[in-house]
Amino acid sequence: MAQQLVDRRDQEFVIWEQINCADILNHETYKEFNKKTCTLIINEARSLAIKELLPLLAEGDSEGVLYENGTVKVPQSFHRVFALVKEGEWNNLSVPTEMGGQGAPAFLGAATAEYFLGANWPLFCYASMGNGTAHMIQKYGTPQQKETYVKKLTSAEWGGTMLLTESEAGSDVGSLTTAATKNLNGSYALSGNKIFITNGEHDLVGNIIHPVLARIEGAPPGTRGISLFLVPKYFVNADGSLGERNDIICSGVEEKHGIHASATCSMTLGSKGKCIGYLLGREREGMKIMFNMINGARMSTGLQAMTYASSAYLLAVNYARERIQGRDLADFADHSAPPVAIIKHPDVRRSLLWMKSYVDGMRSFFYYMTVLATKSNEGETAEDRERCGDLFSMLTPVVKDYMAVKGHEICVQAIQIFGGAGYTKDYLVEQYARDCKITTIYEGTSGIQALDMLGRKLGMKEGTVFVNFLGEIHKTVARAKQMEQIQDLAVRVETAANRLGEVALHLGKKAMSAEFKAAFSHSLPFLHVIGDTIMAWMLLWRALTAVTQLSGKCSKKDLAFYEGQIKTAEFFIGTELPATMGKMNAIADGCAAAIQISDEGFGGL
Ligand SMILES: Cc1cc2nc3c(=O)[nH]c(=O)nc-3n(C[C@H](O)[C@H](O)[C@H](O)COP(=O)(O)OP(=O)(O)OC[C@H]3O[C@@H](n4cnc5c(N)ncnc54)[C@H](O)[C@@H]3O)c2cc1C
Repeated sequence: MAQQLVDRRDQEFVIWEQINCADILNHETYKEFNKKTCTLIINEARSLAIKELLPLLAEGDSEGVLYENGTVKVPQSFHRVFALVKEGEWNNLSVPTEMGGQGAPAFLGAATAEYFLGANWPLFCYASMGNGTAHMIQKYGTPQQKETYVKKLTSAEWGGTMLLTESEAGSDVGSLTTAATKNLNGSYALSGNKIFITNGEHDLVGNIIHPVLARIEGAPPGTRGISLFLVPKYFVNADGSLGERNDIICSGVEEKHGIHASATCSMTLGSKGKCIGYLLGREREGMKIMFNMINGARMSTGLQAMTYASSAYLLAVNYARERIQGRDLADFADHSAPPVAIIKHPDVRRSLLWMKSYVDGMRSFFYYMTVLATKSNEGETAEDRERCGDLFSMLTPVVKDYMAVKGHEICVQAIQIFGGAGYTKDYLVEQYARDCKITTIYEGTSGIQALDMLGRKLGMKEGTVFVNFLGEIHKTVARAKQMEQIQDLAVRVETAANRLGEVALHLGKKAMSAEFKAAFSHSLPFLHVIGDTIMAWMLLWRALTAVTQLSGKCSKKDLAFYEGQIKTAEFFIGTELPATMGKMNAIADGCAAAIQISDEGFGGL
């Protein structure tokens, strides 16, 4: 039967054969987990996602959320399935046990989330977003704050949010105007308006804990003057029961392009002068603390896009196998020849392989990142922990933006495979394309990720982190060069990695020169050539793994799978990577037209 959401064999390949997550399971922290339990857990998640969450995806899209007098109702059908997710504790699988989670390694959390996000991101997000809030409280909260909030959030009994954005403070969070004044009892009175707040109000949970960025009276302008406050929807009594309603209300929800079942709320704080917040961490450390949640959310956003892409690709490839249209190109002149499935047409095959190459590359990249994240905490030596943590941090903007942009392009391409049917609501590809677009916008737009990459990450530790990253690619290249079948591919990836190093050095220097604006006009293409090179690396690594497996005994099904890996690497490295080399040349050439053109020169006046 055709697979849905995730290619199961491919996920297993990445986890157990390519990235070798079994290594992680040897660590004491994960002694409760072995390959068998992991497989069982993934199978259960798959079954729940396909049987329960996925059937509500289109319904959530057409029904949306209902705003009424400060309340938000999610689609009625969500309640039963939300309870199933909560009962099964699927929302906190890789949350540490001391926080009320199940302590699974990050890769296992990702493996199950691949299914849940592709099946119904809005529903799963209602259940899991509180983890981000809980992590911040666990790290920076007082013992009482931890006791009051953490387990309620990770169990999804209560929901969590993040309140950064205001109408005049989007990408530039530092310009926010929500104000906080200290009360005599040590709490703070908050007043202001936030917009676009995911899950700001809904009827699936008993309470919602809002982490709110605000400026304490007298604090300096910009991000350094911002503090973070916990603003519960309902106050919590000393015995843990819910008390009075706090003065934070939802004043409306957005009508959106996609993710209709996700409540995107405008929030008014202190309209009655009674909004109380509790400082989390220290005054003026708000941005630093919030970044704990933002970084996690950036990873989740990349994963969200990848799961849409994976789901849309599987729908497209299955449709291409079934849709009969046109004769085989070899029989073009023969009108009596039977029509064939569209997967036989060269252009359709190219398009499918294009999608597959990115989905595969992104999946490998994401699991590679989960391993880095785990090793940054559990690595054997301090040096190893630091190396993995640095690489993880440097590559986070690539996960966030590259996977978002490519994920969206894949969903759009999936519509194309369906032809006219793809443009209708008869198939989920149309919804996936709409739902996916948000991933390039929230948690920092493409432009902001590019700024982060060129302005901060490239120069981390005098550029040594970037050099280490290139070194990781070269390790795979060196191994692949030993295999005759993929030597040529390895040389091409090596050339691309070397060129990327040259371009990075050149652009990094330019970003610190008088021509910095011209340099930053290339920052997003730069982030994307890093992403392309990572795809080529991951696909070469896959091909290397496949060649190794093919040298042993394998079943007919595995033979097709492994050979498919080699062809996918050949395709990407042979057809996409040359374009990347061209893009790298363009970045090095450094055309400054985007800076030099006058504002009027853009026309339209
Ligand atoms: C569905 C949805 C859910 C959301 N959920 C949340 C949430 O839960 N919590 C929350 O706080 N916010 C949330 N947001 C807000 C989201 O994070 C912002 O929309 C986003 O950060 C961009 O801000 P903006 O919309 O004001 O756009 P702007 O900041 O006005 O940006 C407009 C354009 O200018 C570009 N730009 C702006 N500044 C720069 C710069 N310095 N360099 C280069 N390019 C730049 C941007 O890349 C973008 O293309 C959500 C938004 C949506 C639509």
